[in-house]
Amino acid sequence: MERDTRAALPLAPPEKRYPPSAAEPVAPAERKRAATQKNEFISTLVESVSADELRNSVEALAAFHTRHTFSPLIGQAAEEIVSRFEAAGYTDVVRRTWTNAGHSADNVICTKPGTAAGRPVIIVCAHYDSRMADLNNTTARAPGADDNGSGVAAVLEIARLLAPVALASTLRFVAFSGEEQGLWGATEYAAELHATDGEAYRVVNLDMVGRPPADGSVTVERDLGNAVPGNDAASKAFAAVMAQAAADHTALPVMLGPIFASDYMPFEAHGDVTIGAYEGEGNPHYHETSDTPDTLDYGYLADVTRMTLATLLADARQAVG
Ligand SMILES: [Zn+2]
Repeated sequence: MERDTRAALPLAPPEKRYPPSAAEPVAPAERKRAATQKNEFISTLVESVSADELRNSVEALAAFHTRHTFSPLIGQAAEEIVSRFEAAGYTDVVRRTWTNAGHSADNVICTKPGTAAGRPVIIVCAHYDSRMADLNNTTARAPGADDNGSGVAAVLEIARLLAPVALASTLRFVAFSGEEQGLWGATEYAAELHATDGEAYRVVNLDMVGRPPADGSVTVERDLGNAVPGNDAASKAFAAVMAQAAADHTALPVMLGPIFASDYMPFEAHGDVTIGAYEGEGNPHYHETSDTPDTLDYGYLADVTRMTLATLLADARQAVG
């Protein structure tokens, strides 16, 4: 399926995600609108985000010796994620297998149907595979707590809290494998979706959101050009919702940066509206055995999760009667 499309995508294995100079602070004026746009329903849910739940998920994922995509343990990690979605009450949870360069692994997809027709599906995603500095070392200890147990934990926590909430838009919570090899799982899934329907998707990607930089900020990533320029304006508007959510529900300083080298890229190339959250450069444990759960700041991870949850609630409930 869609092999030709995929071959055309720019898919070098992600290295350092981008230099700090690529991010810029949000102008103070944008933060002055805080509080005025707060919504009581959203606030109550957002306050329910649990740092303990987040820590529990990160520890469960980091407990696998490695989640290298070529390791047999990757299947067990997928099953752990499936069981967590199911424990939250979801019934539509599937593992979908992709194959690339002779390797296969699964994406985990948990669907929460919306109550209204004709609205774009929102994909909330994070990669669950990990790696060591040597990408070809499939047996070294690679706990991947920040990269990217943190993003998966946030997706799981958002799913848990939204399980009893009716939303107009359909949400798909997706955990990708093969990210570290060059976005393989996300590339396959984006191609699958766009081969079978003519829809445009909205994508929110979380990759490394558990360890704050020195200034405690979060970087909200939006689409600046890339493969399809026509989706940039919608991405910037979506990112503005996320920046506002941070101002409304957390004390996180917000930086704006570009989407770069993570699982939203193949969706962007198909024309989808993509944004992300990222802690920014500075984790000394990046792609090392030392990327362990005790190096994360669960209060920070909870704040990034609150920001993302509030963003989704604003987007998925918009214009609902
Ligand atoms: Zn990552």
